[in-house]
Amino acid sequence: MSILKIILIASGTILFALGLNAQKTYLHCGELIDVESGTVKKEQTIVIEEDKIVAVKAGYQSGDENEKVIDLKNKTVMPGWMDMHIHVESHPSKRSYEERFRMNEADVALRATVDMRKTIQAGFTTVRDLGGSGVNVSMRNAINRGDVVGPRIFTAEKSLATTGGHADPTNGFRRSLMGDPGPKEGVVNSIEDVRKAVRQRYKNGADVIKVTATGGVLSVAKDGQGPQLSDEELRAIVVTAKDYGMTTAAHAHGDEGMRRAVAAGITSIEHGTKMSTETMDLMIKMGTWYVPTIAAGKYVAKKAEEPGYYPNIIVPKAREIGPMIQNTFKKAYAHGVKIAFGTDAGVFPHGENANEFIYMTEAGMPVMEALRSATIYSAELLNQQELLGSIKPGKYADIIATDGNPVEDIQSVLRVDFVMKGGVVFK
Ligand SMILES: [Zn+2]
Repeated sequence: MSILKIILIASGTILFALGLNAQKTYLHCGELIDVESGTVKKEQTIVIEEDKIVAVKAGYQSGDENEKVIDLKNKTVMPGWMDMHIHVESHPSKRSYEERFRMNEADVALRATVDMRKTIQAGFTTVRDLGGSGVNVSMRNAINRGDVVGPRIFTAEKSLATTGGHADPTNGFRRSLMGDPGPKEGVVNSIEDVRKAVRQRYKNGADVIKVTATGGVLSVAKDGQGPQLSDEELRAIVVTAKDYGMTTAAHAHGDEGMRRAVAAGITSIEHGTKMSTETMDLMIKMGTWYVPTIAAGKYVAKKAEEPGYYPNIIVPKAREIGPMIQNTFKKAYAHGVKIAFGTDAGVFPHGENANEFIYMTEAGMPVMEALRSATIYSAELLNQQELLGSIKPGKYADIIATDGNPVEDIQSVLRVDFVMKGGVVFK
């Protein structure tokens, strides 16, 4: 046997021994919601080693006396929730339109650290950020390094829009400030532009591509629902994103823009306000996800009645579109469209994301199905089903517990008492 071989075997043995000695944590769960089977199990133990789940056992088990036990015997334990539509950088306020001129990126980032802490404390261990300026990418990296407290972030960096479209960053500015934003800033007007804009997002660190396929409520522009990207542009976006290993999401209120995005092969439709039955059928055929954001619809409809909260041009759009989303959700769910949980937090205060569960069940979705939308289905949407979305050996230890069982009392989604992400306790 060569010396090299002996060294390799010896070091392998040492690593193996270290593995055996790694400290385990035992979570004693009074009730455990198994989202995969749709059942609630009593008296279970989840065994965690480093950042992963290594076992789930019946009864209350523990290791030797210096291994850690966390007592959740009078709690309901479930996988950490996942919100597929938030804006890390946004923060609702009467002043948000002028803040664009007053706040530096550092100001936005520091404020967002507080919002991300609220988000994880509310039980959301993973989020998909659908558009900002690039602070979102830095926030994801800071959280991954452990420098900032917050959920795992998958981000779109800057959303793509047409000139004057929903995510054109200079909408409503005076001419001398408008400039001529292009693909680098996420503004696109041709096939060539969209390819460059998608590739630029990849270079800037995006995980996903967000497009605004129709007008939107909160942009300083008249139209809130007309199509804003052509079939060809949407197809080029989807194909280019795929080449770079990225999924795609389309903001859409009107049906025509939505239909185009679905036909182009978009991964998810956001809001989906005026979704027709034909578009629902097409979504089922294409396997498209629907991310409803009922919470944001309700919030903007309410705030539109508060004088001066939004600029005048926004008020009629908020009044019309806001209240429609819950009913669209109800129809889409009954029709069989795949639904992933998403709220548009940032339009309303971060940390209030769990209200969406209440709105979903109000509209006829069983609680277990709503919990699945925020766990296994969201993990599937993110292409992270191997690592996220359920309590299973090999997955990240992203685990939360509520005071009361949401399946029996939906209000208990607002009482998250315990949060663990990657084996680290945050609440
Ligand atoms: Zn949004």
